[in-house]
Parts: sequence; structure tokens; C-alpha cells
Amino acid sequence: MQSAVSSPQPSLVSVVGKLTYTLLRGLERSTFALVFCLVLRTYKFGGLQGVILLFVKALRTVPGVDWLIKVILTKEVKGAVRELSSKGTETSEKKIAISIPEKGLPHSQLLEQLAELKVGETAAEDGKLFALVYSAGDTHTELLNTARSMFKDFDATGSVNHADFLDRVYRMFCHDNALNPNLFASLRKMETETISMAASLMNGPSSVVGSLTSGGTESCLMAMKAYRDRARALCPHITKPEVVACITVHPAFEKAAHYFDLTIVHVPTNEQMELDVSAMEKAITKNTILLIASAPQYPHGIVDPVEQVSELALQAGLPLHVDSCFGGFMLPWVEKLGYYVPKWDFRVKGVTSISADLHKYGYGPKGTSVILYRDTDYRKYQYFAYAQWPGGLFGSPSMAGSRPGGLIAAAWATLMGMGQDGYLKYASETMEVTKKLIQGVRQIEGLKILGDPHMTGFAIAPDCPAVDMYALADEMEKTGWHMERQQYPSCIHFSIMPTHIPTADQLLEDLAKAVSSVKANPDAGKDGSAAMYGMVAKIPDKAIVDDFIVQYFSEIYTMT
Ligand SMILES: *Cc1c(COP(=O)(O)O)cnc(C)c1O
Repeated sequence: MQSAVSSPQPSLVSVVGKLTYTLLRGLERSTFALVFCLVLRTYKFGGLQGVILLFVKALRTVPGVDWLIKVILTKEVKGAVRELSSKGTETSEKKIAISIPEKGLPHSQLLEQLAELKVGETAAEDGKLFALVYSAGDTHTELLNTARSMFKDFDATGSVNHADFLDRVYRMFCHDNALNPNLFASLRKMETETISMAASLMNGPSSVVGSLTSGGTESCLMAMKAYRDRARALCPHITKPEVVACITVHPAFEKAAHYFDLTIVHVPTNEQMELDVSAMEKAITKNTILLIASAPQYPHGIVDPVEQVSELALQAGLPLHVDSCFGGFMLPWVEKLGYYVPKWDFRVKGVTSISADLHKYGYGPKGTSVILYRDTDYRKYQYFAYAQWPGGLFGSPSMAGSRPGGLIAAAWATLMGMGQDGYLKYASETMEVTKKLIQGVRQIEGLKILGDPHMTGFAIAPDCPAVDMYALADEMEKTGWHMERQQYPSCIHFSIMPTHIPTADQLLEDLAKAVSSVKANPDAGKDGSAAMYGMVAKIPDKAIVDDFIVQYFSEIYTMT
């Protein structure tokens, strides 16, 4: 972040203040360095290294010394990780990049592999562990056996169905806690391999790092938090940080802005429902700390023009987050199948991070998503550290404290078990049924598809005033469909899955019937959800609608 950011003119008072501050900081740092070196020395390291470290630490305020500290610190940390790790050999200094296997591995083989990892690992039942795992008595052996034993269920290829497989993997690790990555080396291995597989799917260079999170929202929250803290460190003069995003960006970012005290500057879409790049260019100010694009955005399934946004980001020296929670595990297969997909991943130079949900088109269990950064210099701002707790030195990568081992294992097992062949097969079938539905909708008079959707999500809207979309949704629900109503403009969202292959014809038939019935009934739209959306649209102050939503949720989550 450089050029978009111009520093204000310093006054004499602020210069003197700054000098005093730097001097004090330098003193404080030397004291810290001295203590740090003493600790290091008594702990393990030879005197010379300690002295060098002390010297360097004290000089930290001198420009250019920082990188040297970084080099030394990295080396020391690597040594310490090797030392502390229960499986010392697992953490080699070389990062091993892996991709999703070309052919999904047999479930029996994966369960065997997991059991082997787990056998040598800490188990609560040994009675030698005093935190992290609070198990009422499911024993290690029991968990291993129930997950492994029923080999009779496996077919000739060594597999059961996907859900049953994930269930067994989850059970094997359901008490394990990734809050301490040294204790459960298997979880660390599976998390880093999952990140590695996701990074390679999204064409990341070998520098890409990331975290597994509990879902898309947490991935988006973490990105926003990381960029906020990065701006605090690199552009301390920005006091009111702004993030520029399109109105179609997922509310997870609005939530992040709400939690982390950031402001989102919204830009509109063009008629194709894509992020309006020239509006984004105009929205960049000296307070901007981040640009966001979606691949694709959820409401209409349209991939934003990421390459053009990347140009803006590079010109302005700003980071660019691409939210691919919806499509991160679908778009790469769609592209491989030969469909046109605008470039959106790490191949685009300005993209600095990507969020992608395993629990959507990755077919992982609910509670699994990844956040990827182009390199550790971005990710480090995501981490939280607290060295002063009486309970010990505390560090944590993401929102959660205790991190569920079962979900980490299941995320890893999903990718390994599906394989590229599995994903391609599902993507191919799902794209075919999506195309069929889109063509079918376009043939129904009174309906249209918004924009030109790039994968397996789209939105339908009326193309004549006689069709009220919400009345149409109400009509559809009378025959058992669940409709996803949207606004600005009013339309209905569809995420297509393999489960829609058998229902596609019926859907088109019922949509056509519903359109005729809405057209024939002049009172359609006067009650039901149509009336509610109509009323809400007339309330100019949306804060009132927000209050209504809060009240609604309070009511729903109260015992009656
Ligand atoms: C679903 C989604 C999210 C949020 O994900 P959750 O898993 O529901 O928290 C964020 N961005 C996009 C584009 C999504 O589709």
C-alpha cells in the first residue's frame, strides 16, 4: 500500500513528539531484547547468537534493520517448532505442496491412513493430558474402531457413500482440538494439506498460505481483520479506513465492517450485474485500505471483472480480496470443462487473498471453508497473540479458540476422497442441468435470467410488469418449492446441485404454470411475501427494517 496514501504535512510539535516516541520505543525495545536474549540463552542458544540478536533488536528503529530481525526470528521459530513438535519429523523446513489427487482415493484406504496418524498421537484416555480435550469417555480405541471396523460396508473399490465416509472420519477426530497444533500433529498436517490443495486448485504460487475456518463468514471476517490490521501497521495515518466493494458483495463483509469498525463504500453493478469498475475507480480515496470482488457473487452467479479490478488495485497500491466462497470449488472445474470463466484466481496479479467454501461446492461438511493469502506477509495480520495471560502464552490463527478436529479431518478427507475426477463429474452434470434450466427459463414468456451467469447459480426476474416476482415465489411455494427471494431488483436465486437433475423438468413446468397464474390473477401480489416485500420497499429508513429483522430473530430464538 503506497501511492494512494499521501501523508499529511508534519508540524514541528508532531516531529518533536515523534522523535521522543522513537527514542523511548528504542529504549523499550533494547530492554525487551535483553530479556528476550537472556531467555533464549538459558533456554538453548549459544551466547554469540544471543548477543547478535540483542544488538539487532536494539537497532530495530534504524531503517533497514527490520528484515534482518525477520530472518533471524524466522530461523529461531523454525527451530523451536521442530523442537516442540511431538512429531519432530513432520515439520520439515521445506513446504510440501500437494494437489487434490487426480483420482479420489478409496475410503477404506483413507480411513486406514487416518487411523495410522492417530494411533501414535496423544489421547485423552491415557490420562496424561490436562487441557484441550474434554471427553466424557468415548475412548480413543472405540473411536478408531467404529470408524475403521465396518469394512464390510465398503464396495469393491473400498468406498462407502460420501456422507457415511465423512461421518466416520469426523467421529475419529471429534474430540481433538487444533488449538494446540503441536499436540495433534495429524490435524496440523491435514489443515496445511487442505490449504495446499485449495491453493493449487486456485493456481496459487508456492508462497500461498492460509487457514481453515468454520465457514464463509469466518473466512471473510478474517480477511477484513487482516487488512484492517495491515493498514494500521503500514498506514497509521489512516484513521477512518474504507473498503470498496460492490452492492452484491456478501453480507459477511458488512458484518465484518460492523464488528471491526470499518466502512464499506458501495459501488453499483452494471446491467450485466457485474461490479462497475469505473465506479470503483472513483470510489477509491486516500482512506481506502482494500478492494473486494466476488467470483461469483451469490445473488446472480456472476463473476466480477477481477482482472480489471486487479489493474485498479495495482495502480493504487491496494490489496484485492476475491470472495469465492460460493464458487471457489466450482469455477476451476467449470473452466476445465471448457466453459468460459473470466480469470479470477491467483493467476491475476493483483489478487492478494481468496475465500472459498468447502461446505458449498467442495461438498465438505457444514463448518468448513478456507481463507488463502498470496504470502505470509498478509496472513500474519490475521493472527492473534497475547503473551500476558496467566494461563500461558496464547496464540490463535482465527476467530475460534478451540478448533474442531473432526471438521479439519473431514475437510481433508473430502478433497482426498472426491479427487479431481469426482469434482469434474459433479461439475459436468451440474453445469448441464444449469444450462438446461437457463434455456428453459428464457423460453418462458414473462421471465428472464439476470446477466450471463458463469457457473451453477443464477437468478430469474420478470421481463414484463404483469409478473410480480414475489407473487410468483408464493405461487411456487404452494406446490412445495422453496424460493430464495431477492431484492434490488426483485428476483429469485437458484443454486443448482446434482440433486436438481431429477427435478429440473418439473421446475420448468411449475414455473411456466406459476407465471400464467400470476398473470391471470390481478390480485396476485396483494398478500403473502409479495405484500411484505412491497411494504418493506415503501419504508425509506432501512434502519427500521433492520430493527424489524432483529426483533424477528429475537422472537424466533425464544422458547414459547
Ligand atoms: C455463502 C457465501 C458467503 C458466506 O458463507 P457462509 O458459509 O454462509 O458463512 C460469503 N460469500 C459468498 C459469495 C457466499 O456465497
